[in-house]
Amino acid sequence: MRAKKRRSDIGREPHKDPRFLAAVDMVGRSGADQFMMWYCDEQKPIVWIAAALFEENWECAAGMNPLRAVFRLCETLVDGGTCVHCGKPTGFVPDLDPTVLGELICWYQWDPELKTFRRGCEGDGK
Ligand SMILES: [Zn+2]
Repeated sequence: MRAKKRRSDIGREPHKDPRFLAAVDMVGRSGADQFMMWYCDEQKPIVWIAAALFEENWECAAGMNPLRAVFRLCETLVDGGTCVHCGKPTGFVPDLDPTVLGELICWYQWDPELKTFRRGCEGDGK
């Protein structure tokens, strides 16, 4: 087995990426009551952890930088959900990926103009 190719869309200053705040906002839109982020530097390499509280249950994801950690948390929260607007299963894509087509899945995708993650069915009159 070969390791998955590393995604390199995250720059050297991930906390300045506009997708960071938008992804945190996305966690809130998924119904989280609380959001936390911290890093663990007891061992190298330093690992970032993003966590969200839903009533009494925490969900978390980790990454080598804060942006990747919050993206993974969004994927965990959004993937496999159901869109309350169109009823399709939901998916989360951190990048603007033109190859992703939303026929079967309502993708939450980065909109660089509005600087937010928009759901796939938004704006098509439903
Ligand atoms: Zn939808």
